[in-house]
Amino acid sequence: MTRRVLVTGGAGFIGSHHVRSLLGGAYPGWEDAEVTVLDKLTYAGNPANLSPVAGRHTFVHGDICDAELLASVVPGHQTVINFAAESHVDRSIADAEAFVRTNVLGVQTLLRACLDAGVERVVQVSTDEVYGSVEHGSWDESAPLAPNSPYAASKAGGDLIALAFARTHGLPVVVTRCGNNYGPYQYPEKVIPLFLTHLMDGADVPLYGDGGNVRDWIHVDDHCRGVQTALEHGTAGEVYHIAGTAELTNVELTERLLRAVGAGWERVTRVADRPGHDRRYSLTDARLRDLGYAPRTGFDEGLAATVRWYAEHRDWWEPLRKPVGRYSA
Ligand code: NAD
Repeated sequence: MTRRVLVTGGAGFIGSHHVRSLLGGAYPGWEDAEVTVLDKLTYAGNPANLSPVAGRHTFVHGDICDAELLASVVPGHQTVINFAAESHVDRSIADAEAFVRTNVLGVQTLLRACLDAGVERVVQVSTDEVYGSVEHGSWDESAPLAPNSPYAASKAGGDLIALAFARTHGLPVVVTRCGNNYGPYQYPEKVIPLFLTHLMDGADVPLYGDGGNVRDWIHVDDHCRGVQTALEHGTAGEVYHIAGTAELTNVELTERLLRAVGAGWERVTRVADRPGHDRRYSLTDARLRDLGYAPRTGFDEGLAATVRWYAEHRDWWEPLRKPVGRYSA
């Protein structure tokens, strides 16, 4: 029987990578899957992210908060992967309403539809930011949730609803939590594509606070392979971490980005720190590695490929470019 996979938020950065990977044969055994993408096409959703697989998937323009639409779309799919979210921390500081709506109510509405349709496997894609900030060491999956930004709080809400649906209703859902992603097709409001596109255009870039905030970077391809591993082999009701491969302060990251495009520190403007800015995130990923996952893309190699991609795809990012602004890391 052909497997039918519904990817919500599949026109965004990470969801579209998953769809291109699935349809490109990156996940053995899934080459013949029929893929439906459901996406609201917010500012972050971009049909161009799916143009390499145009004609090979079904696209539904819609909202995961729309129960009536979901009741017509979800039945017939054995697998649902939810990447749909409001994902930009700085926007959540300016106005959290859409975050609570999509990341909490949307998740609940989608899970309800999955339950009603008898979906066999659901993945709720989440973030390390739900744990708040960790000074030393790394979180395992039993660490308490202590989100600081409205974005992280809304993601934590969605995760808890997902785990409650597993326990209360027996919904076969797993939750994945990942560190900071980078790679092609990332909307240029997030720090790596924002810095690269500004630097490539000759503009300056803004660095938050003392630049000492630490993030654990992972290539989007490794994130999606981690999601796929949890989907195929994870235990319902469990959380799986997908840890990064490169812990860097924002100063170290900026140094690498400047070097990659041949620019100097005179192009960097220091700006006031983000309110509630978490200092450091760090995950352990032994649980996922026990299922056979291991990252494949080293940071230097992945960053070099990403820089090349942005240099070669101005047609993709130029229409999305905004004046120098804040960034999310
Ligand atoms: P993104 O902002 O690039 O994409 C989100 C997608 O969801 C867009 O296509 C958007 O149109 C769609 N969407 C938003 N609201 C919707 C709604 N109500 N109904 C249907 N579609 C809707 O985000 P991303 O970076 O690709 O992140 C995907 C997921 O991964 C999110 O859940 C995010 O929390 C999580 N995550 C991201 C990172 C990262 O570094 N980017 C790290 C860890 C986890």
